[in-house]
Amino acid sequence: MPSLVALPGTSDLLPEETARWQAVDAAARAILARYDYREIRTPIIESAEVFLRSLGDATEIVQKQMYLFTDRGGRQVALRPEGTASAVRAYLEHGLDKTAGLVKWYYVGPMFRAERPQKGRQRQFHQLGVEVFGSASPLQDAEVIALLMHLLEVLGVKGAALKLNNLGCRQDRAARVEALTAFFSQHVGDLCEDCQQRLRVNPLRILDCKQEKCQRIVAKDRTPDTGLCADCLAHWQAVLAALDALNIRYERDVRLVRGLDYYTRTAFEVVHPGLGAQDALGGGGRYDDLVQQMGGPSVPAIGFALGLERVLMAMDHEGVPAEPVRPPDVCIAALGEAAQIKGLVVRQDLRRAGVACAGELDPRPLKRQLEAASKLGCPLVLLLGDDELAKEVVTIRDMQTRSQAQVPQAGCVNEVVRRLKTVNS
Ligand code: AMP
Repeated sequence: MPSLVALPGTSDLLPEETARWQAVDAAARAILARYDYREIRTPIIESAEVFLRSLGDATEIVQKQMYLFTDRGGRQVALRPEGTASAVRAYLEHGLDKTAGLVKWYYVGPMFRAERPQKGRQRQFHQLGVEVFGSASPLQDAEVIALLMHLLEVLGVKGAALKLNNLGCRQDRAARVEALTAFFSQHVGDLCEDCQQRLRVNPLRILDCKQEKCQRIVAKDRTPDTGLCADCLAHWQAVLAALDALNIRYERDVRLVRGLDYYTRTAFEVVHPGLGAQDALGGGGRYDDLVQQMGGPSVPAIGFALGLERVLMAMDHEGVPAEPVRPPDVCIAALGEAAQIKGLVVRQDLRRAGVACAGELDPRPLKRQLEAASKLGCPLVLLLGDDELAKEVVTIRDMQTRSQAQVPQAGCVNEVVRRLKTVNS
């Protein structure tokens, strides 16, 4: 093992893997364009305040997982643990609350959380997320969920299950928190250490604690789970009706609370049975109070984030075939210094004509160059040696038929392009 290795919970993606990532990226972007979403790219590093103000002091992310440090200018900064807070910061910073109506954004990129690494859980992972600002309509909730399910379907992830809950508005939440606090206080001794703390700061999170002893208490919870005000109830029923109209299957899960404090009303998660303990592919919900909480006006909003590592794991589990690596179109094999220079020029001409061109630039025996070309799987090889230079030709070898022909150097690019058309048709 070399002495310098990637940090725990981070990993390299080598070309065999990036091919798949690129395919996922391209497929997702194509779908997002159909739904009229535009990409935003925000910095990976932000003022810590952006997350402290939005995620909630009591959340695990803020308490235990944020990469926080003081930069050289003495500022408290954080590596972004998620995308929504940065999106809201950017939305307000660029005054979109004043000028734009409906804003539909997506982002793709790395997020950082100092968690204990395990299967499906890294310290640097990637999310694809969407955020919609300026719509309070329950139909928007349904369409955001439909987009999430459509994305997974296009990527070949068919076994994902959608779970839904309605957390209510701030007032509804407060009432539920009060009821849960009273209930869990009776069982405080039987809760895990984390949940004993959650009881003080955010009892809702006890509902989705993974510890068995806590789940046994949660199972006894009879506090009203439909305690929604009339508006939230109407919104909820409209979301469900819209999902039914779209034929989207869901399971209602009154214990679904999500890890971040800013959610209001609709909250959802997609899980996949092939992922093991970390089975959430992604999730999201409404965050109608967050823009205001971060210093802006009251703007309703909704979004979700998908964990891309887990999406790829689910694709593997479902047997989605690996992305075929397309070989270069042509390999150049040149022998001798002058031929190598000519080869370098021809390579560039070919690339300008749109041809993918490979071949080594170091001097190698012809046999080795041909072996390398054959290994790459290029359909054509161009041979250049003293003989070709003297006659001002290039030898084109068809790797499939093994036939060879000499063509004038001046016309070789056109000839290659012509031949590739038949190879690729
Ligand atoms: P969250 O932002 O916590 O709602 O997470 C959304 C999705 O991001 C999750 O469902 C996971 O798929 C993914 N995710 C969150 N944390 C991690 C992590 N530490 N490692 C890998 N994926 C993660």
